[in-house]
Amino acid sequence: MTIEMTHESAPGRTKAVQPSEQSEAEVRANDRAHVFHSWSSQAQINPMPVASGAGATFWDYEGNAYLDFSSQLVNLNLGHQHPDLVASIQEQAGRQATIQPAMASDVRGELARRISEVAPGSLNKVLFTNGGADANEYAVRLARRVTGKRKVLSMYRSYHGSTATAISLTGDPRRWSNEPGDGSVAHFFGPYLYRSAFHATTEAEESARALEHLEQVIVLEGASTIGAIILETIVGTNGVLVPPAGYLPGVRALCDKYGIMYIADEVMVGFGRIGEWFAVNAFDVTPDLITFAKGVNSGYVPLGGVVISDEIASFFDNVPFPGGLTYSGHPLACAPGVATFDVFERDGILERVKDLGERVVAPTVQAWLASHPSVGDVRGTGLFWAIELVLDKATGEPLVPFNAAGADAAPMNAVAAACKAAGLWPFVHFNRLHIAPPLIISEEDLVRGLAIIDEALTVADGY
Ligand code: PLP
Repeated sequence: MTIEMTHESAPGRTKAVQPSEQSEAEVRANDRAHVFHSWSSQAQINPMPVASGAGATFWDYEGNAYLDFSSQLVNLNLGHQHPDLVASIQEQAGRQATIQPAMASDVRGELARRISEVAPGSLNKVLFTNGGADANEYAVRLARRVTGKRKVLSMYRSYHGSTATAISLTGDPRRWSNEPGDGSVAHFFGPYLYRSAFHATTEAEESARALEHLEQVIVLEGASTIGAIILETIVGTNGVLVPPAGYLPGVRALCDKYGIMYIADEVMVGFGRIGEWFAVNAFDVTPDLITFAKGVNSGYVPLGGVVISDEIASFFDNVPFPGGLTYSGHPLACAPGVATFDVFERDGILERVKDLGERVVAPTVQAWLASHPSVGDVRGTGLFWAIELVLDKATGEPLVPFNAAGADAAPMNAVAAACKAAGLWPFVHFNRLHIAPPLIISEEDLVRGLAIIDEALTVADGY
């Protein structure tokens, strides 16, 4: 099924609007003088002032348009200034701006009900948080409390957030400078056929060997000490690593065998990114806990949460759950969450994501394997893809080294600059370029964006 949604056909998305009376210079000056930015050396950055956005596009103060192929931080699933989401926040603010979490709210309950309906198995309760990291913190706390076991296993090449436990769970370099962190976390290798840690040559081999490895880690770390295994259903920031068939059910089986809780981190991949409400639905697996954030309301107001199985929830029937947040299930955040469900259902968002992924993105990026010497691997599903750039296809040597920064990162910076100069805002991480546009992008814009990337890849080909 194809559904066309253009800026022209959607009210409120027809043009850039100037949202503030400040000049570009004033915005820039305040930012540089007073805003302390995350993950950055403060003197080495020059954040772009953004004037406005609509649909899959945003504009700078000179009126230059950028196709947002990163959906900001892969959260803006329904795009910039979606009229239904904006209206839901305005309506909610006029009716009930806030109510504390120990009281019942119509919109909070409605969102929890809608989430439970699309979650698999008996995952019927929702603990709301302010974002993804604290959702993972709470999932781990629940699992530790219920199992009475403290250790958590998580994957190398994962990102779970930057609060205390979440950064310890994280299996990428962002963890390093935050160590020592939570001492009860151990890491394992997940499946990644293109750079297999197991010398596998087929998906089936990779899956079987990754599961064998995980079982050894469980045994050596001690099943009696491990409360949970947490993994992104599809690894996001670290490479859009789609697990081979059988891997996630295999993880489920190991969790059952050893009395371990399975936590699926769906902060990036949940709510439509691959054309499913929850990505586990595509892999035939039911975790004990699912964490979400980002796409639940496209990040219009901070919101995350943990979907909890009835079995885990009932543990706390007569035992208090030790935790809470002042803004848990904030009505202004839940209202665009409910609106997200309405828009997804009305506009067939899940179906169009699958359709665009299969019909438009997959054949285009797969052709780049042949047409670009710098493209070593392409992988993904729905509107969630990674292009891995290499210096040498035969050896797979990455275009820039792992954890590249400064001069090392220059080739990828050049690719990103070529995209930006042509009007596309890319998502770049180490030697990869990801494709993750808003799910409402028109087919025309999607095709145009892919053509811009195709051209920018010639810059990578030159190294
Ligand atoms: N988990 C995953 C898979 C993520 O991609 C992210 C953020 O990118 C997080 C957790 C952390 O979410 P937040 O930044 O909302 O705390």
